[in-house]
Amino acid sequence: MAAIELRGLTKVYPGGVRALDALDLVIPDGEFFALLGPSGCGKTTLLRTIAGLETATGGAVVIGDRDVTGVQPGARDVAMVFQDYALFPHMDVTDNIAYPLRIKKVSKNDRRDKAAEVGARLGLEHLMDRRPGQLSGGQQQRVALARVMATQAQAFLFDEPLSNLDARLRLEARTFLKKLQRELGVTTVFVTHDQAEALAMADRMAVMESGHIRQIGTPAEVFQRPANTFVAGFIGSTPMNLLDGVVRGDTLEVAGCKVAVPAAAEGRLSDGGKIVYGVRPEYMTYSAEPADGALGGKVSIVENLGASHLVTLDVNDVNVQAVVPEGSEPAVGDDGYALPRRDRALVYLDG
Ligand code: ADP
Ligand code: MG
Repeated sequence: MAAIELRGLTKVYPGGVRALDALDLVIPDGEFFALLGPSGCGKTTLLRTIAGLETATGGAVVIGDRDVTGVQPGARDVAMVFQDYALFPHMDVTDNIAYPLRIKKVSKNDRRDKAAEVGARLGLEHLMDRRPGQLSGGQQQRVALARVMATQAQAFLFDEPLSNLDARLRLEARTFLKKLQRELGVTTVFVTHDQAEALAMADRMAVMESGHIRQIGTPAEVFQRPANTFVAGFIGSTPMNLLDGVVRGDTLEVAGCKVAVPAAAEGRLSDGGKIVYGVRPEYMTYSAEPADGALGGKVSIVENLGASHLVTLDVNDVNVQAVVPEGSEPAVGDDGYALPRRDRALVYLDG
């Protein structure tokens, strides 16, 4: 197993797209690292450049204590799982799993043994003679995983490996993959555009936007303290309220209401300055009665989230959302007041 280090890693495609712009990143040995970002931000390019399937335009890739920047993919000792699994349709499960070992000139008997061992570990023992076309999506995904495990690489690179599974299987695979990675202790870079997946699985994560890393941290850090409005808008199952505001002495004016300066912003603000006020709908206390520092308005939408409701208030023509526990949700047209938690609200100056 090995750490992965990227130093000023840059990839400019012929034609001029700057897919990676001088990225610096250190992923310690054994870490489960999630790389999150919208489509087109450079996630696949980053994985392919680590694997050596793309040539870096600038900078370096270091795996363990080895600079592999100019090294051929086969000699880098990393294993990649692609979004479509890239299984060979004409080979059975055993041969698919054993394929990388064949490339490494491992003997036929040893290949069969290893494929059987890894296959059993992933619950594929009764499917070893089937071809990919005779397997479900979830089973194909396990074969792709088994193939990666059979190689005993220094690092695993996963490119949205769960995105072709249906919702329930995806949740199962999440837990399964995370557990497996723990057991094996192999450094893992897991690419996803699904913020919930990244939050659930990662030891640490990075959020990317157009070739740049916008934040690196633990899931808790990124969720509770998004570093900028881009990350704030991207993380969370309900988007954060991001509201334009102005500093007025020792309070803020937001959507025409007076709210308290968040604890995290104390001492950072200048009177009269424009800000973006950020607070998650989960960190609002909702009431039908006015309260000091609350954002008050009329209820325009009530959405059922299962155990709670997402209430949208029209506050002087600005939408403000709050999560309200089951049983105390208002009706459309009611007056409502959403009081932000001062210890959870944030102020951005980058909006
Ligand atoms: P993601 O995986 O986050 O969706 P990609 O790494 O696939 O993003 O793409 C990053 C950017 O690079 C996009 O603008 C994409 O259009 C561009 N790109 C990807 N592959 C190529 C290529 N082979 N040639 C030219 N541009 C590419
Ligand atoms: Mg991609």
